[in-house]
Amino acid sequence: MKTLQNIDFSQKKALIRVDFNVPLNDAFEVTDATRIQAAKETIDTIIAKGGSVILMSHLGRPKGVEAQYSLQHIVSKVEEVLERKINFVNDCIGDKVEQAAKNLAAGDVLLLENLRFYKEEEAGDVAFAQKLANLADVYVNDAFGTAHRAHASTTIIAQFFSDKCFGALLAKEIESIDKVLKNSEKPVLGILGGSKVSSKITVLENILDKVDHLIIGGGMTFTFVKALGGSVGDSICEDDKQELALEILAKAKEKGVQIHIPVDVIAANAFSNTAATQVMDVTKITDGWQGLDAGPKSLENFKKVVLESKTILWNGPLGVFEMESFANGTIQLGNFIAESTTNGCFSLVGGGDSVAAVKQFGFEHKVSYVSTGGGAMLEMLEGKTLPGIDAILK
Ligand code: AMP
Repeated sequence: MKTLQNIDFSQKKALIRVDFNVPLNDAFEVTDATRIQAAKETIDTIIAKGGSVILMSHLGRPKGVEAQYSLQHIVSKVEEVLERKINFVNDCIGDKVEQAAKNLAAGDVLLLENLRFYKEEEAGDVAFAQKLANLADVYVNDAFGTAHRAHASTTIIAQFFSDKCFGALLAKEIESIDKVLKNSEKPVLGILGGSKVSSKITVLENILDKVDHLIIGGGMTFTFVKALGGSVGDSICEDDKQELALEILAKAKEKGVQIHIPVDVIAANAFSNTAATQVMDVTKITDGWQGLDAGPKSLENFKKVVLESKTILWNGPLGVFEMESFANGTIQLGNFIAESTTNGCFSLVGGGDSVAAVKQFGFEHKVSYVSTGGGAMLEMLEGKTLPGIDAILK
């Protein structure tokens, strides 16, 4: 792995692709600075090694230059987090930017304007990437959230540098995922929840080669249960994916992967937090009722396998956690994983909504690692090579 440690930054200008795509309120103030804080280690390390820093990022989805998406809005927050003054230029290429980059002395930080003000960024335009590249001596990619996109600043740019590496955050993401998918301690448990089989098929298929146990929960449960002949009532179910569900079960058997599906559910008579509820056998859900969370017997079963695992990968909630009445399964599962982590298991949470659930219920610091890139993480779990990672390794 090419990391910050492998590069001499002394008197060099480092161009860092960060993910400062932070939420802003109506007054254009940053409401959650997590992503800025996450980049601090990389910036501090480069400065400590005698370099200067040029930060580039996207913010939102502007169509051309739109003031509301200007990175000017985040300057004071970046200064607060980095505990140093920074310089901002209201463009990311051109004379002004080149001059500002030229004037950088060791320890200086320059923030460029939103990369997506140029359509060339997302188009992966080579000439645009080269203009960015001309600003610096070293390229550092620390934006995991966009590592699955072959954009100019995330991928195309890397070809113009002989000195390039992963930032601390991206390196940690890669290490954590490798710890689960490549160098894992057995038994390995995958937990896939969420709403639909269709959005997780490739993950399901790829993960079967990596895990010893697989818990399938959330809305996906019912496609499997129905395919096996059970009655799922009004539960979410993809009828056209039943065949696929059976194929996945057959493949799991062939590979010696033990599948764990909920045996009971909290069923509700409407998709509502205030609906009437009762515990039902997952194979005998009556019409008018839908399974919205894992039931008590299922949780007991899951607890056993979670506590016996040495490596855990968790993607997707066990129920409709956004509604208090159906959050218990996801909360309990988080508690089991936290307990297993305390006992020495390596636990990685990520992809899509799991991170929201983990943060909402305060498990963030009780698991080994929470991945920051929803889509990028899913693609890694699908076994894909991410262009942003590949570009550094080439
Ligand atoms: P995903 O983005 O695929 O991980 O799906 C997350 C969504 O799945 C969340 O918004 C949950 O509310 C939803 N979900 C989980 N369990 C169920 C269920 N039993 N029925 C309907 N939706 C569910």
